[in-house]
Amino acid sequence: MNAAPTPTATATAAAPPDSGVSFVEEIGHLLYASKGNPLNTCIQCGTCSATCPVASGGFMDNSPRRVIALIRAGFKEQVLKANTYWYCASCYQCTVRCPRNIDIAELMYGLKRYTVWKAKGQEDLIGPTFTETFVKTILRSGRSYEPVLATTYLFTYGLPEMIQEAQTATALMIKGRLPLLPARIKRLDNFKRMIQHIIPLGDKE
Ligand code: SF4
Ligand code: SF4
Repeated sequence: MNAAPTPTATATAAAPPDSGVSFVEEIGHLLYASKGNPLNTCIQCGTCSATCPVASGGFMDNSPRRVIALIRAGFKEQVLKANTYWYCASCYQCTVRCPRNIDIAELMYGLKRYTVWKAKGQEDLIGPTFTETFVKTILRSGRSYEPVLATTYLFTYGLPEMIQEAQTATALMIKGRLPLLPARIKRLDNFKRMIQHIIPLGDKE
Protein backbone atom coordinates (compact mmCIF):
# COMPACT_ATOMS: atom_id res chain seq x y z
CA MET A 1 0.00 0.00 0.00
CA ASN A 2 1.12 3.58 -0.61
CA ALA A 3 2.72 5.30 2.33
CA ALA A 4 1.48 8.73 1.33
CA PRO A 5 0.82 11.27 4.07
CA THR A 6 -2.61 11.01 5.62
CA PRO A 7 -4.84 13.77 4.28
CA THR A 8 -8.04 14.79 5.99
CA ALA A 9 -11.28 15.95 4.47
CA THR A 10 -10.85 19.33 6.09
CA ALA A 11 -7.27 19.79 4.92
CA THR A 12 -8.31 21.91 1.97
CA ALA A 13 -5.49 24.40 2.40
CA ALA A 14 -3.81 23.22 -0.80
CA ALA A 15 -0.13 23.61 -1.56
CA PRO A 16 0.81 27.02 -2.97
CA PRO A 17 -0.35 27.10 -6.61
CA ASP A 18 2.17 27.83 -9.38
CA SER A 19 -0.18 29.90 -11.50
CA GLY A 20 -2.76 31.25 -9.09
CA VAL A 21 -4.87 28.11 -9.49
CA SER A 22 -4.72 25.52 -6.72
CA PHE A 23 -4.41 21.82 -7.50
CA VAL A 24 -7.97 21.10 -6.35
CA GLU A 25 -9.25 23.86 -8.66
CA GLU A 26 -7.20 22.52 -11.58
CA ILE A 27 -8.70 19.07 -11.14
CA GLY A 28 -12.17 20.51 -10.51
CA HIS A 29 -11.97 22.24 -13.90
CA LEU A 30 -11.66 18.82 -15.56
CA LEU A 31 -15.04 17.68 -14.26
CA TYR A 32 -17.33 19.68 -16.54
CA ALA A 33 -19.44 20.77 -13.54
CA SER A 34 -22.05 23.42 -14.25
CA LYS A 35 -21.12 25.28 -11.06
CA GLY A 36 -18.63 25.05 -8.24
CA ASN A 37 -16.10 22.30 -7.65
CA PRO A 38 -17.79 18.94 -6.96
CA LEU A 39 -14.74 17.69 -5.07
CA ASN A 40 -15.32 20.27 -2.35
CA THR A 41 -18.71 18.68 -1.57
CA CYS A 42 -17.20 15.26 -0.77
CA ILE A 43 -18.00 14.16 2.78
CA GLN A 44 -15.43 11.34 2.77
CA CYS A 45 -18.12 8.75 3.46
CA GLY A 46 -16.14 6.09 1.61
CA THR A 47 -19.10 4.76 -0.38
CA CYS A 48 -17.12 5.10 -3.61
CA SER A 49 -14.22 3.03 -2.29
CA ALA A 50 -16.47 0.41 -0.71
CA THR A 51 -18.42 -0.05 -3.94
CA CYS A 52 -15.39 -0.03 -6.24
CA PRO A 53 -14.56 -3.59 -7.37
CA VAL A 54 -10.96 -2.66 -8.16
CA ALA A 55 -10.27 -0.93 -4.84
CA SER A 56 -12.06 -3.70 -2.93
CA GLY A 57 -9.90 -6.22 -4.72
CA GLY A 58 -6.79 -4.51 -3.39
CA PHE A 59 -5.47 -3.46 -6.80
CA MET A 60 -5.45 0.32 -6.21
CA ASP A 61 -2.66 1.84 -4.13
CA ASN A 62 -5.03 4.67 -3.15
CA SER A 63 -8.81 4.23 -3.02
CA PRO A 64 -11.04 6.74 -4.86
CA ARG A 65 -12.02 8.33 -1.52
CA ARG A 66 -8.38 8.73 -0.58
CA VAL A 67 -7.49 10.23 -3.99
CA ILE A 68 -10.15 12.89 -3.48
CA ALA A 69 -8.77 13.63 0.00
CA LEU A 70 -5.25 13.88 -1.44
CA ILE A 71 -6.42 16.28 -4.14
CA ARG A 72 -8.22 18.48 -1.62
CA ALA A 73 -5.17 18.49 0.66
CA GLY A 74 -2.94 19.53 -2.25
CA PHE A 75 -0.81 16.36 -2.33
CA LYS A 76 -0.21 16.69 -6.05
CA GLU A 77 2.81 14.41 -6.37
CA GLN A 78 1.07 11.55 -4.57
CA VAL A 79 -1.96 11.91 -6.82
CA LEU A 80 0.14 11.97 -10.00
CA LYS A 81 2.01 8.85 -8.89
CA ALA A 82 -1.12 6.88 -7.87
CA ASN A 83 -2.24 3.91 -9.96
CA THR A 84 -5.90 4.46 -8.99
CA TYR A 85 -7.20 6.05 -12.19
CA TRP A 86 -5.12 3.80 -14.47
CA TYR A 87 -6.63 0.74 -12.80
CA CYS A 88 -10.17 2.17 -12.88
CA ALA A 89 -12.47 -0.14 -14.87
CA SER A 90 -14.97 2.64 -15.70
CA CYS A 91 -17.83 0.65 -14.20
CA TYR A 92 -19.43 3.84 -12.79
CA GLN A 93 -20.60 2.12 -9.58
CA CYS A 94 -18.93 4.88 -7.53
CA THR A 95 -20.61 7.60 -9.58
CA VAL A 96 -24.13 6.23 -9.27
CA ARG A 97 -23.79 5.60 -5.52
CA CYS A 98 -22.09 8.78 -4.37
CA PRO A 99 -24.50 10.62 -2.02
CA ARG A 100 -23.09 13.95 -3.27
CA ASN A 101 -23.53 13.07 -6.95
CA ILE A 102 -19.83 13.46 -7.62
CA ASP A 103 -18.88 11.91 -10.95
CA ILE A 104 -15.90 9.96 -9.63
CA ALA A 105 -15.54 7.93 -12.83
CA GLU A 106 -15.18 11.18 -14.76
CA LEU A 107 -12.59 12.26 -12.19
CA MET A 108 -10.61 9.13 -13.04
CA TYR A 109 -10.67 10.05 -16.74
CA GLY A 110 -9.69 13.62 -15.89
CA LEU A 111 -6.71 12.46 -13.84
CA LYS A 112 -5.54 10.25 -16.71
CA ARG A 113 -5.64 13.22 -19.07
CA TYR A 114 -3.93 15.43 -16.52
CA THR A 115 -0.99 13.08 -15.91
CA VAL A 116 -0.51 12.45 -19.64
CA TRP A 117 -0.50 16.22 -20.32
CA LYS A 118 1.93 16.81 -17.49
CA ALA A 119 4.05 13.82 -18.57
CA LYS A 120 4.09 12.53 -15.02
CA GLY A 121 2.97 9.33 -13.41
CA GLN A 122 4.14 5.93 -12.31
CA GLU A 123 6.75 4.66 -14.74
CA ASP A 124 5.86 0.97 -14.48
CA LEU A 125 2.24 1.37 -15.59
CA ILE A 126 1.01 0.27 -19.02
CA GLY A 127 -1.88 2.75 -19.06
CA PRO A 128 0.02 5.97 -19.89
CA THR A 129 2.05 4.33 -22.68
CA PHE A 130 -1.06 2.66 -24.07
CA THR A 131 -2.94 5.97 -24.03
CA GLU A 132 -0.13 7.84 -25.78
CA THR A 133 0.24 5.14 -28.42
CA PHE A 134 -3.53 5.19 -28.98
CA VAL A 135 -3.55 8.97 -29.49
CA LYS A 136 -0.60 8.81 -31.90
CA THR A 137 -2.25 6.02 -33.88
CA ILE A 138 -5.51 7.92 -34.11
CA LEU A 139 -3.70 11.05 -35.28
CA ARG A 140 -1.82 9.21 -38.01
CA SER A 141 -4.78 7.49 -39.59
CA GLY A 142 -7.98 8.53 -37.82
CA ARG A 143 -8.52 4.97 -36.68
CA SER A 144 -7.33 2.61 -33.99
CA TYR A 145 -4.95 -0.13 -35.17
CA GLU A 146 -4.71 -3.08 -32.78
CA PRO A 147 -1.38 -4.59 -33.96
CA VAL A 148 0.41 -1.36 -32.96
CA LEU A 149 -1.51 -0.97 -29.71
CA ALA A 150 -0.73 -4.56 -28.73
CA THR A 151 3.00 -3.83 -28.65
CA THR A 152 2.48 -1.51 -25.66
CA TYR A 153 1.46 -4.39 -23.39
CA LEU A 154 2.32 -7.64 -25.16
CA PHE A 155 5.87 -7.83 -23.81
CA THR A 156 4.64 -7.65 -20.22
CA TYR A 157 3.28 -11.18 -20.71
CA GLY A 158 5.26 -14.38 -20.39
CA LEU A 159 6.20 -16.35 -23.50
CA PRO A 160 3.21 -18.77 -23.44
CA GLU A 161 0.75 -15.85 -23.22
CA MET A 162 2.55 -14.00 -26.03
CA ILE A 163 2.33 -17.06 -28.28
CA GLN A 164 -1.36 -17.40 -27.44
CA GLU A 165 -1.97 -13.73 -28.26
CA ALA A 166 -0.08 -14.10 -31.56
CA GLN A 167 -2.18 -17.16 -32.47
CA THR A 168 -5.38 -15.30 -31.68
CA ALA A 169 -4.27 -12.28 -33.76
CA THR A 170 -3.34 -14.53 -36.68
CA ALA A 171 -6.71 -16.28 -36.55
CA LEU A 172 -8.49 -12.92 -36.49
CA MET A 173 -6.45 -11.70 -39.49
CA ILE A 174 -7.26 -14.85 -41.48
CA LYS A 175 -10.96 -14.27 -40.80
CA GLY A 176 -10.63 -10.61 -41.80
CA ARG A 177 -11.44 -9.36 -38.31
CA LEU A 178 -8.05 -7.72 -37.86
CA PRO A 179 -6.62 -5.63 -40.72
CA LEU A 180 -3.10 -6.26 -42.02
CA LEU A 181 -2.60 -2.56 -42.67
CA PRO A 182 -4.14 0.39 -40.82
CA ALA A 183 -7.18 1.96 -42.40
CA ARG A 184 -7.08 5.70 -43.04
CA ILE A 185 -10.07 8.00 -42.91
CA LYS A 186 -10.89 10.65 -45.47
CA ARG A 187 -10.26 14.29 -44.59
CA LEU A 188 -7.66 13.40 -41.95
CA ASP A 189 -6.52 17.04 -41.62
CA ASN A 190 -10.03 18.10 -40.63
CA PHE A 191 -10.09 15.35 -38.05
CA LYS A 192 -6.74 16.46 -36.60
CA ARG A 193 -7.96 20.04 -36.32
CA MET A 194 -11.04 18.83 -34.44
CA ILE A 195 -8.88 16.76 -32.06
CA GLN A 196 -6.67 19.79 -31.39
CA HIS A 197 -9.71 21.57 -29.97
CA ILE A 198 -10.29 18.70 -27.54
CA ILE A 199 -6.84 17.73 -26.29
CA PRO A 200 -3.47 19.50 -26.25
CA LEU A 201 -1.36 17.44 -28.63
CA GLY A 202 2.11 18.70 -27.71
CA ASP A 203 4.64 16.50 -29.51
CA LYS A 204 2.21 13.62 -30.00
CA GLU A 205 1.90 14.13 -33.76
S1 SF4 B 1 -19.01 8.44 -2.24
FE1 SF4 B 1 -18.94 10.62 -2.83
S2 SF4 B 1 -19.08 11.76 -0.91
FE2 SF4 B 1 -18.54 9.64 -0.37
S3 SF4 B 1 -16.27 9.65 -0.28
FE3 SF4 B 1 -16.83 9.05 -2.34
S4 SF4 B 1 -16.82 10.97 -3.52
FE4 SF4 B 1 -16.90 11.51 -1.34
S1 SF4 C 1 -15.64 3.66 -12.08
FE1 SF4 C 1 -13.52 3.15 -11.51
S2 SF4 C 1 -13.26 4.07 -9.48
FE2 SF4 C 1 -15.46 3.99 -9.86
S3 SF4 C 1 -16.15 2.05 -8.94
FE3 SF4 C 1 -15.70 1.61 -11.10
S4 SF4 C 1 -13.56 0.93 -11.15
FE4 SF4 C 1 -13.89 1.95 -9.16
